[in-house]
Amino acid sequence: MSSDSPPLDSLFSESDAPAAVIADVLIPLALDIAYSYKVPPGLVVEPGDVVHVPLAARETIGVVWETRKGASASNLKAVMSKADATPLSSTLREFVDWVARYTLAPRGLVLRMALRAPEIERNERIAMGVRLVGAPPARLTPARQRVLEILSDGLLRAKRDLCDEAGVSAAVIDGLIDEGTLLPEPMPQAPISPLPDPDFTTTIFSEAQSKAVGELLNSIRQEQSSTTLLEGVTGSGKTEVYFEAVAETLRKERQSLILMPEIALTGQFLDRFEKRFGVRPAEWHSGVSGRRREKIFSALASGEAKVIAGARSALFLPYADLGLIIVDEEHETAYKQEDGVHYHARDMAVVRGRLEIAPVILASATPSIESRVNAKAGRYTHVKLPERHGGRAMPDIATIDLRVDPPGKGRFLSPRLISEIRETIMRGEQTLLYLNRRGYAPLTLCRHCGHRFQCSNCTTWLVEHRFRRALMCHHCGHVERRPETCPSCSAEDSLAACGPGVERLQEEVAEQFPDARALVLSSDMPGGIERLRREIEAVAAGEFNIVIGTQLVAKGHHFPYLSLVGVVDADLGLTSGDPRAAERTFQMLGQVTGRAGRGHTAGRALLQSYDPDHPVIRALVSGDAERFYREETNQREAASMPPFGRLAALIISANDRQPAESYARALARAAEPPPGVMVLGPAEAPIAVIRGRHRFRILVKTDRAVPIQAYLKEWLARAPKATGNVRLGIDIDPQSFY
Ligand code: ADP
Ligand code: ZN
Repeated sequence: MSSDSPPLDSLFSESDAPAAVIADVLIPLALDIAYSYKVPPGLVVEPGDVVHVPLAARETIGVVWETRKGASASNLKAVMSKADATPLSSTLREFVDWVARYTLAPRGLVLRMALRAPEIERNERIAMGVRLVGAPPARLTPARQRVLEILSDGLLRAKRDLCDEAGVSAAVIDGLIDEGTLLPEPMPQAPISPLPDPDFTTTIFSEAQSKAVGELLNSIRQEQSSTTLLEGVTGSGKTEVYFEAVAETLRKERQSLILMPEIALTGQFLDRFEKRFGVRPAEWHSGVSGRRREKIFSALASGEAKVIAGARSALFLPYADLGLIIVDEEHETAYKQEDGVHYHARDMAVVRGRLEIAPVILASATPSIESRVNAKAGRYTHVKLPERHGGRAMPDIATIDLRVDPPGKGRFLSPRLISEIRETIMRGEQTLLYLNRRGYAPLTLCRHCGHRFQCSNCTTWLVEHRFRRALMCHHCGHVERRPETCPSCSAEDSLAACGPGVERLQEEVAEQFPDARALVLSSDMPGGIERLRREIEAVAAGEFNIVIGTQLVAKGHHFPYLSLVGVVDADLGLTSGDPRAAERTFQMLGQVTGRAGRGHTAGRALLQSYDPDHPVIRALVSGDAERFYREETNQREAASMPPFGRLAALIISANDRQPAESYARALARAAEPPPGVMVLGPAEAPIAVIRGRHRFRILVKTDRAVPIQAYLKEWLARAPKATGNVRLGIDIDPQSFY
């Protein structure tokens, strides 16, 4: 960086110029290095300070990463000013560096997650109030008189309220301020959330629960970093148990972060928190308004807010004194961010906990193989709750062999499942039908010519959505109307829906049970999160007979009237070719069947399958999770798959196939893998085109002892650079392989 005109201090010779202070400033853009700026005399900056700096022809915000003395700073541009924002703590800066090193993302991009750049400065107007302080003005209009009367009690009033009450415009009040009669003052901010009370209620724990609580409290009292895997079957009281860890952290006046995979949908969780602590925790997710986010941001930085329940991005907030991190449903795939910085919030939670010296609790009924292995190896403390609370039984799980008991033609519910649903309705209990497919049908084709509806931007089939009367791509969001005639052969009434989605299942349910109240719970129904929250509450209150849902119904909800879970297609997902397919299906079906029988009636789950002898299905039916984990872990170990080996994916994409492919090949040719490293591919990605971008993948697999980041850095430094519109994305520990 060079400055345009010689700065004043260059008039002095180097030798008698005082040593200049140089600040290395990290800028929240896709930049890995911190740029050096000189600190002008009179300005004091320290590492962590948020500053305004010039960048190219613009002014931008950045964070001082380091300051140092330099002999000459005359060729550097100067820091312009300090921003009115809370400095980043040294642990948060360390965390940013750590995440960037691990994910190979540019540090600036990671910093951006910690800054929420546009919101960091208090550019949102703080409500102003006025108070009567001076003598009445010489010119007293009726409007002014009304204002003065209202303010005669000497109290502070919000300007806007005052305008309404007195029926005057803001100009009248501004005039009185100019005359010195009224004094403007910022209105006090409402507290972000009242303090949760650790002793608001006391829970009476079972023996097993007490033991678990004891172990968690122990980890908090030790004041060391530690990770605990809290593994308990669905309904065993994991939430009640980890609430005690939150309570203990509150007593120490430190902050707790509870990470949740679907925080926007967990109204029930917030209610339970309120029952235990008297107030709701602060929430952090995409549905929280900008203004509220900003309040939370500063309340956390000042230490005023003590408990936050948030989505993965809450991991990057500026806690004043973080004393506990809980990762609820730690096995959830939603914790992996798949764009921008590719990071896994569960793994990074463990890192942040270590840096903050805060214990981390990973909770799940069906933990990830990774966490299980860490627990078995003694790296994590393993706390178990093997039984449901209150003597409730685990649901009885059985299969329906679709080869023997098939549904009718064009139908998806087998006769046996239908009769079980009927009995459940007659008992006044609820049924949940689980099918992880949104929309009406995953594929539409022409019976006449065989034409299939494909997305124009992606190599995917369009999914029919009947409620919206549209065909949609679930990868790029492309929507088109479902035509009346085949676009290829012009045949009329020839389009056929292939396979079921939840909407189609609803049709079948309505046909079979015309008097039942049925509801589809899916993330893409109109009405958004607010409607979903209300519907989930209605289900919990017992208002529906049959609930048809995608994976979002599986997540931690407590439906006391639910006694039957029907898994419409238990094989879905087992055939995906994803190395974690078995684990994922086991977790997903374990969660969804775990919704049954959490109230006063026993629960039952029926898995419809064409392959009931598949190890995953057998494990679910037998309830022998240990055996499933053992076998799956052994297989991973034999194949050196994570966590016994390391994986990274390179995703090469371009607007055309040819440049993507040739760059992918050039990269692979430069790989020169050392011992312990395997480079597989390039191969065209399973979804070859997404949003018009042609995609190739290279998979890097290494022994556990190989520092995969160092190898990738060294390789990519040697390899040719991507040019034109070719992009290279790096995904360390990839979770998806499409
Ligand atoms: P999990 O998170 O393991 O699925 P929860 O914490 O949701 O389990 O507990 C399941 C149900 O049992 C909830 O309704 C919860 O309030 C209740 N519960 C669990 N433990 C207790 C306890 N010790 N006292 C009272 N209710 C409990
Ligand atoms: Zn598409």
